[in-house]
Amino acid sequence: MDLYEYQGKELFGRVGIPVSDGRLATSPEEARRAAEELGGQVVVKAQVLTGGRGKAGGIKLADGPDEAEERAAEILGLDIRGHLVRKLWIEAASEIAKEYYLSVTFDRGAKRPLFMFTTQGGVDIEEVAASSPDALVRLHVDPFEGFQPWQARRLIYGAGVEPAEEQTQIAAIVEKLYRAFVEFDAMLCEINPLIVTTDGQVRALDSKFTVDDNALFRHADIAQMRDPDAYPPEERAAREKGVTYVKLDGSVGILANGAGLAMSTLDVVALAGGRAANFCDLGGGGDAQGVVDALEIITGDAQVRSILFNVFGGITRTDEVARGILQALSQMTIAHPIVVRLDGTNAEEAHVLLSEAAPANVHVEKTMLDAARRAVELAA
Ligand code: GDP
Ligand code: MN
Repeated sequence: MDLYEYQGKELFGRVGIPVSDGRLATSPEEARRAAEELGGQVVVKAQVLTGGRGKAGGIKLADGPDEAEERAAEILGLDIRGHLVRKLWIEAASEIAKEYYLSVTFDRGAKRPLFMFTTQGGVDIEEVAASSPDALVRLHVDPFEGFQPWQARRLIYGAGVEPAEEQTQIAAIVEKLYRAFVEFDAMLCEINPLIVTTDGQVRALDSKFTVDDNALFRHADIAQMRDPDAYPPEERAAREKGVTYVKLDGSVGILANGAGLAMSTLDVVALAGGRAANFCDLGGGGDAQGVVDALEIITGDAQVRSILFNVFGGITRTDEVARGILQALSQMTIAHPIVVRLDGTNAEEAHVLLSEAAPANVHVEKTMLDAARRAVELAA
């Protein structure tokens, strides 16, 4: 789960990483009030779950309440790479002398958390990694040993930070960032830029914070930071029903049992010349309620022209799934053509069931490729 900048900064604040004072605003009037409370120059920042807001016009300085209100009116409603700006973070402006970069993330290859630090911050870290890889210091932490103070020094000296006051402040921030990473079960904690102000204060000016979904049960307070408005309505409905669903932009709606089979189904639809409207994993079951829930979500997407069921029965019996499909279709009316491919345990029985009882819009195919071709044809 990705957090907004202001939420990430709240977590930074909890471990003692210095951040600027700020307020959330959802209207130009609230932005004005926030600027009044903060006093002085402020920065008006679009809160969207994507980076590069500065370049997209989502971050602007304002010289007081009047200007804050104007800038807020300009930024609210902006579309930043497909993300509509509904919220703003109004923050006391900083006078920036230097922009550094600091992050900790998972290096899956090394099976360890990986720190990255460079004095060339503020820009895309991928650019730094490509153009001056030597400027980017990388350091793994052994999760069993935990973070060691020498590791912060290695990062700081490696990147060539010289002023002693900066070194001390950054060392403290590195340690606290690791603590945040572990304590909040993060997948990524990134500060870009980590600034040095003109009077020598080191502070997190931005935050990118990703928390492991599988650990949210341990963090009720973070779990409720999820903003339902940030997700497409279909995904929201799916989440509420416990269906694993990701909206895509094709026209063939997909239901498969198991994430791997669902992924292969997307590929086969592409191979057949079509495009999937979604990823949907029915899970192991295939009981009627699960099928009804998934079908409701898939047919709620206006781009869907045909539906492809792809089910492999390993432990799941496909005749049970066929009964689930029939029961679901008796509970709801679906105008879309539906192509069903069932294989594996009790597939013969399943085919007989469907051919005897399925409505006319249901087409049964024996192989995954034939089913995909049929579904693509029917979606055209
Ligand atoms: P991003 O573009 O989404 O990564 O958003 P950031 O929060 O990193 O801000 C982008 C850039 O805006 C920073 O690198 C700064 O150069 C600038 N910026 C943000 N906040 C301030 C501020 O308080 N004062 C000044 N002078 N510039 C700021
Ligand atoms: Mn940034």
